[in-house]
Amino acid sequence: SRETILSNKPEAKDDDQSLRPQHMREMVGQRAVFERLEIAVDASRKRNEPLGHILLDGPPGLGKTTFATVIPRDLGVSLQIASGAALAAPKDIIPYLTNAEEGSVLFIDEIHRLPKSVEEFLYPAMEDFRIDIALGEGVNARTINMTLRHFTLIGATTRTGLLSAPMRDRFQMREHLDFYSVEELTEIVRRNARKLNVDVTDDGAEEIAGRSRGTPRLANNRLRWVRDYATSKADGRVNRDLACAALDMQGIDNQGLDPQDRRYLETIISIYGGGPVGVEAIAHTINTAPDTLIDDVEPYLLRRGLVIRSPRGRRVTQATYDHLGIQPPEPPSP
Ligand code: ATP
Repeated sequence: SRETILSNKPEAKDDDQSLRPQHMREMVGQRAVFERLEIAVDASRKRNEPLGHILLDGPPGLGKTTFATVIPRDLGVSLQIASGAALAAPKDIIPYLTNAEEGSVLFIDEIHRLPKSVEEFLYPAMEDFRIDIALGEGVNARTINMTLRHFTLIGATTRTGLLSAPMRDRFQMREHLDFYSVEELTEIVRRNARKLNVDVTDDGAEEIAGRSRGTPRLANNRLRWVRDYATSKADGRVNRDLACAALDMQGIDNQGLDPQDRRYLETIISIYGGGPVGVEAIAHTINTAPDTLIDDVEPYLLRRGLVIRSPRGRRVTQATYDHLGIQPPEPPSP
């Protein structure tokens, strides 16, 4: 295989590797994004030209890394993986740029975490495929101008808002990944159950999908847990009742909310009278980083209308009280 993966990422996601689609055609959902990317990939292949730079944004676990790995594989080009958080200075990114083969893909995850110096160093690399390397100091200082091979940068971020406008503008395509429908997640659970050799009924797959917060990575995690539960507590087969029992045991409720989601909502209600309250205050109260709430917890709750973001802060809705089975303090305004 031509795939050479130079990676500075921690191995945290290795577990996911076996379930990751290997080709674009194996991906489920995200149809509009998928079709646009497929056209760009197809055109690049037909013209034998490198693909333009692509920015993918959206909540964690929706397939940004998956897109970034299947695209080069389908194009038959090599892939390098870097993480924005680990690229502290321009010198850290130079090896990736000089190693990039013609037409290859450089994937930078968490690209919003690149320091400004690295970001600015990347501008000419993205635009003109050249970099200026400063050598020496003081009177001996000089700059070497180096030409790069034409690579494709795929950037992933959970928050496009944190990216500077000049950086954003250097991407030819910008795609937003959204939460998956229960039907799409059911299909992903069914396929991955086959890969993991789990015998799961249709309603069992649907139950796991419905409790996965619209997120394939969570669907995979929940499926693995249900599989363990089925092996340990039953004969290994997964139906709806078994999936419910297994997920209940992890504190995942019938809407897929986990204990952290509920603690977040309950805090707004019990400590802050339902809001509005700033996210920092909530984070402080439940002893979590605000970024965790903003990136991992809030997007799905916002999507489900279980929390609302206003200029004055977060507040819960009637749906939140209904879901948690808590009596609202006063009748909701009509
Ligand atoms: P992060 O931003 O945290 O890196 P991500 O958006 O890159 O997350 P992935 O790592 O690409 O998410 O996806 C997690 C897992 O979900 C994949 O390993 C794969 O098993 C599954 N998955 C994601 N998208 C799809 C899809 N469209 N079809 C099938 N499976 C998918």
